[in-house]
Amino acid sequence: MDDPRIEESQDAIIRVTSTAICGSDLHIYNGMFPQPRNMILGHEFMGVVEEVGKGVTKLKKGDRVVVPFPIACGGCYFCTHDMATHCENSNEHYGPEGALLYDKGAALFGYTDLYGGYSGGQAEYARVPFANFGPRVVPDNLTDDQVLFLTDIFPTGWSAIDWANMKGGEIVAVFGCGPVGIMAQKAAWLHGASRVIGIDIQPYRLEMARKAAKSETINASEVNVVEAIRSMSAGYGADVCVDAVGMEADRTALEKALNVVQLEKGTMKVLEQCFSAVRRGGVVTVVGVYGTPYNNFPLHQWFDKGLTLRGGQAPVHKYIDHLLSLVQEGKVTLDDIITHEVPLAEASRMYDIFNKKQDNCVKVVLKP
Ligand code: NAD
Ligand code: ZN
Ligand code: ZN
Repeated sequence: MDDPRIEESQDAIIRVTSTAICGSDLHIYNGMFPQPRNMILGHEFMGVVEEVGKGVTKLKKGDRVVVPFPIACGGCYFCTHDMATHCENSNEHYGPEGALLYDKGAALFGYTDLYGGYSGGQAEYARVPFANFGPRVVPDNLTDDQVLFLTDIFPTGWSAIDWANMKGGEIVAVFGCGPVGIMAQKAAWLHGASRVIGIDIQPYRLEMARKAAKSETINASEVNVVEAIRSMSAGYGADVCVDAVGMEADRTALEKALNVVQLEKGTMKVLEQCFSAVRRGGVVTVVGVYGTPYNNFPLHQWFDKGLTLRGGQAPVHKYIDHLLSLVQEGKVTLDDIITHEVPLAEASRMYDIFNKKQDNCVKVVLKP
C-alpha cells in the first residue's frame, strides 16, 4: 500500500514505532465482519509525528504519541459528552439505528468500510484525522511497550469495570483471559475488588491471568463455570460479571449449526453464562464484540434477577489521560502480557498464531 499523505487540515501523519494485533482484528480476519476491498488493519498503534496539517495546533513534528482506536471529531454532541465512540462526524456510514450493515458509530482505525474505511496502524505510517482531539503525547521516560495498550485494551478493560459502578469489596468474574480480559482484571483490583476471578478455556492464558493480574482462575472447559463462581461466592454469584470473550467463544458443532439456522454470527454463550453467574441485582458488562442479533436473549433472567447490563465500544478518549497517569505513577503495569515482539513483516504469521492460540501467544507487538 502507498504511504499516507495529509488529506484534511486536521490530519497528522505518524511514523509508527509500535503496533499490536487485537482480538477485534480477528473478527475481520475470520470473516465475522465483511470487508470487500483490501485495507490496512490495526487500531492499536503509536509513533512519532512526521507531519501535521495546517489546522493541527496541539501536535508538532517529532512529538511521540499514542492514538485512541476510535476516530472522533472532538466537537459534536457525543464527543463533548464523553461518548467519542459515537462521534457523528468521522464515519460516512454513521447513523442512529446501529443496524447490522448500516448506521454504525464513530469510525475506527483499520476496521472495515462500515467503520469508516480508514487505513489502520499495522504499517510504517498512518494518517490520523482530527489530530487535535485523539493522539496523546507520552513522556520520554516511558517505553513504547509501557504505553501502547492505552490505545485500546487497557481503556477497554477499564470501561468494563468502570461501568459497574463499584463501591469496593466486590467479587468480579471476568470471562476471557485474553489481553482485554486480563486488563479488565487489573482494572478490577484498581477499583477495589475483594476477589477477581478470570475464566478461560486455554490453560496458558489462565496462567497469564494468575501471573499478570494476580487473579484466581477457572478453566471453563473443565468445570461448570456458573457453579464454580457460585461456590466461590457463598451461593450468590459474582457481584460483577464481565464478558471479555464476545461472539467468537468456542462452540460445539451442534451450537454452530443452531447459530447458522438463527442467522447469528458466532454465539452469545458467554453472555448467557454471565447472566447466570452474576448475583441477583448485580451488573453484567460486555466488552467482547457482538455483530448480529441473537435469538433467545435471556431477557427473562435480566428482569427476574434485576440485572444491570452495559457494554459497547470503549470510550477511550474519556479515560486515556487518567490511565496514562496511572502508568506514569507505577500504579499499573501493562506490558507484562506481551509474549511476542516481532518485525512488522511477520504480521501475517503472527495473525495465524494469535488466532489459533498457539505458541502460548497472549499479545503480539509488531515493530515496523
Ligand atoms: P482474544 O481472542 O485474545 O481473547 C478471547 C479469549 O476468550 C481467549 O483467551 C479465548 O480462549 C477465550 N474464550 C473463548 N471461548 C471461551 C469460553 N467459552 N469461556 C471463556 N473464555 C473463552 O481477544 P482479546 O483481544 O482479549 O479481545 C476480547 C474481546 O474483546 C474480543 O471480542 C474483542 O473484539 C473485544 N474488544 C472490544 C473492545 C471494545 O471497545 N469493546 C476493544 C478491544 C477488544
Ligand atoms: Zn482492539
Ligand atoms: Zn464527534
